[in-house]
Amino acid sequence: MKKKPFVTKEKLEEIVREVPTPFHIYDEAGIRRNCEAIKKAFAWNKGYKEYFAVKACPNPFLIKIMKEYGCGCDCSSLTELMLSQAVGCVGDDIMFSSNATPAEEFQYARKYNAIINLDDFTHIAFLEKATGDLPKKLSCRYNPGGVFKISNDIMDNPGDSKYGMTKEQLFEAYKVLKEKGVKEFGIHAFLASNTVTNEYYPLLAKVLFETVVEIKEKTGVEISFINLSGGVGIPYRPDQEPNDIQEIGEGVRKVYEEVLVPAGLGETAIYTEMGRFMTGPYGGLVTTAIHEKHIHKEYIGCDACAVNLMRPAIYGAYHHITVMGREDAPCDHMYDVTGSLCENCDKFAIDRMLPKIDIGDLLFIHDTGAHGFAMGYNYNGKLRSAEVLLKEDGSYRVIRRAETPKDYFATFDEYDMYDKLFV
Ligand SMILES: *Cc1c(COP(=O)(O)O)cnc(C)c1O
Repeated sequence: MKKKPFVTKEKLEEIVREVPTPFHIYDEAGIRRNCEAIKKAFAWNKGYKEYFAVKACPNPFLIKIMKEYGCGCDCSSLTELMLSQAVGCVGDDIMFSSNATPAEEFQYARKYNAIINLDDFTHIAFLEKATGDLPKKLSCRYNPGGVFKISNDIMDNPGDSKYGMTKEQLFEAYKVLKEKGVKEFGIHAFLASNTVTNEYYPLLAKVLFETVVEIKEKTGVEISFINLSGGVGIPYRPDQEPNDIQEIGEGVRKVYEEVLVPAGLGETAIYTEMGRFMTGPYGGLVTTAIHEKHIHKEYIGCDACAVNLMRPAIYGAYHHITVMGREDAPCDHMYDVTGSLCENCDKFAIDRMLPKIDIGDLLFIHDTGAHGFAMGYNYNGKLRSAEVLLKEDGSYRVIRRAETPKDYFATFDEYDMYDKLFV
């Protein structure tokens, strides 16, 4: 499928007059359409709720849009909890799925009645010690170990991942929690990442549902919510077939009716914690080609770099690039498209066939709506970019301003460095 930016060249040129590149832009209409589709796909389950994985795109303006569709927040740190609370998500609207959790974060999560998802058996005692007692409602994270295989080319390795409890620990955890007076129980597992297949959730559901039936038989504990977590992928490459959320929802329903309903667990709520699938395709990084360089290879140097989008640099992730205004031009030039970090891995594309790029051209780097801006950092003294929302009516709004040098110097407050040096 041909990948097309959700914004026109003319619109970007208008925005660039006010907001210099680089910036991330988000598509409100796309996010809303997707929320509707997810709601519909899981409407068969009375208790269904999506907890948006805040880490994927921690912008309160976007979280607020998703909240309109009943989405809560999945948090894993103090500031993510604060962000959720700031947009009005508290109590059952927050899932706190963290690991190696500091005591203060458990305390904060308890203060706002977030649903806590315990990553380890030892966290029962740790949470009790940190917060004085245990909440009435708790969830446990399961790691079945081994290799989780979906098809020949999609698999992941839970046996190698640091998250969750073994099956024995999980069963023991529910027993202990029940003895300690916990009344409502959940289960959670995240077994594979960025799965571009409709089979992942149904296969994961089968593992979890069968485990839930076994828990009921062996411990008498009835699980009331099952959290399928994240991992639903998006097609970063043009030749990938996008997931069909309707089919995914139906797949989960089938397993639900096969496994849970006959076991008398037909009231169990299904939760999801999707991040990438919620915002990934509805974000793009807009950058200007500011240099070309002809040495042993052909290079295009951009004003964005890996601090704005880290995925290509750290795991060679593919992000499609559109040269704005050259959508239909032949891809007859091979380029490395680079940023300006003093790191040779700072390349958005390597040996990529693209239309001829001229200095001043706007490049649209696709699918940066999740794990894009969010993974940003300040290496090389680079500053974080702005974030812009392309609204449904075609107008735009800056939903986060770009950092300035003053922001960079703000943490040297003891020395008043910025004021002394520059004012
Ligand atoms: C990262 C994460 C998610 C979201 O994952 P996606 O692949 O973005 O859908 C959900 N839950 C937990 C606990 C996570 O760590």
